[in-house]
Amino acid sequence: MEKIAIVTGASRGIGREIAKNLAKKQIKVIANYNNSEKEANELKEELKKENIEIDIFKADVTKREEIKKLVQFAEEKYKKIDILINNAGISEYKMFSDETDEDWNRIINTNLYSAFAMTQEVLPNMIHNKNGCIINISSIWGIVGASLEVLYSISKAGINGMTKALAKELGPSNIRVNAIAPGIIKTQMNSKFSIDEINKIKEEIPLEKIGDPSDIAKCVNWLIEDEYTTGQIISINGGWSIT
Ligand code: NAP
Repeated sequence: MEKIAIVTGASRGIGREIAKNLAKKQIKVIANYNNSEKEANELKEELKKENIEIDIFKADVTKREEIKKLVQFAEEKYKKIDILINNAGISEYKMFSDETDEDWNRIINTNLYSAFAMTQEVLPNMIHNKNGCIINISSIWGIVGASLEVLYSISKAGINGMTKALAKELGPSNIRVNAIAPGIIKTQMNSKFSIDEINKIKEEIPLEKIGDPSDIAKCVNWLIEDEYTTGQIISINGGWSIT
């Protein structure tokens, strides 16, 4: 029987590539988006040309009610959810002393609350089926911390803690929980950096290049096939940080 996957933040960047890759592996994908409706439609149309059908679903994953509707859609249409990719995220570049409560709420809600609430909503289905694979998209900064990205680092460190703790709690239900912690990946999230800045970053990376969303999607492909990995934070960063 085919697998069913929900990918949050699948309209652009890493989430889009993950959704595309899963769909090409005959997995039924529900690609979530919030603001980028045009891009989400383009993804659906692009795959349709290859005779691959996906669902796209608008939901702001900082809002419990919208998350419930997304999960309800998946359950009503497919009866089960095998894979959850908590990918939606935002970043911000700011001095810690300038951060406001609004910044805290926006970043923590988008990057961390979303994974908490999405996971809670899919769990009854996964526990009932005694089967599930949850992959949280974390970040190198959740492991080593980033200057000028303290709130972002907090949110991703939270994701890492959640991944490890939940893996222990859900192991007996045959639900695996892992995180992928990318280094720097070529997406809109890094459009703030100039070419010079990108070149300086490349010099710090042993593999001397910026990652591509496909580097993350390949790891997702492996994690969903694997059956004995749980509670791990997998660093994909060209060797930028080796801990
Ligand atoms: P991106 O290109 O900016 O895409 C972000 C995605 O998140 C978009 O599809 C966006 O959807 C979605 N999103 C944001 N807020 C949302 C919300 N409230 N509800 C639903 N969707 C929402 O970023 P990316 O680089 O692909 O990042 C994806 C993930 O990888 C993030 O968790 C990020 O922290 C992590 N990451 C990225 C890098 C990197 O270098 N790029 C490195 C480490 C970790 P809409 O546009 O439709 O709203």
